[in-house]
Amino acid sequence: MPQQPLSQVPADATWEWQEQGACREADPELFFHPQNERGLARLRRDRAAKAVCARCDVRVQCADYSIRAREPYGVWGGLTEEERERIYVRIALAQFPRQLGEGAVAAAQEIEAAVSPAALGVVS
Ligand code: SF4
Repeated sequence: MPQQPLSQVPADATWEWQEQGACREADPELFFHPQNERGLARLRRDRAAKAVCARCDVRVQCADYSIRAREPYGVWGGLTEEERERIYVRIALAQFPRQLGEGAVAAAQEIEAAVSPAALGVVS
């Protein structure tokens, strides 16, 4: 798993939730795209990762961490890199969430929508 520069890891970051992640039983390659992956292959892999996140008990904590840390790679809390980038764009830098729970509050709608039936490709 790629490591973040230390300066971006929130000071109050906790890691216990990772012990309960549904991805512990999944293929880690689902969550990070290989170099030059594009199009349908990427969409399918992202959806497969999101499907794991959808049944994860710590999805909100995971999404909260990834937003606060500005994780640049991978699917976290059901959110793809592109979905997190869209969240960052609408959050003013001065109000960027850094405290525990602030990322989840700032992106509550996006976190919920990330594993919706439409996001998982099960409805048209
Ligand atoms: S939300 Fe997804 S990436 Fe995060 S711990 Fe759960 S399964 Fe893993």
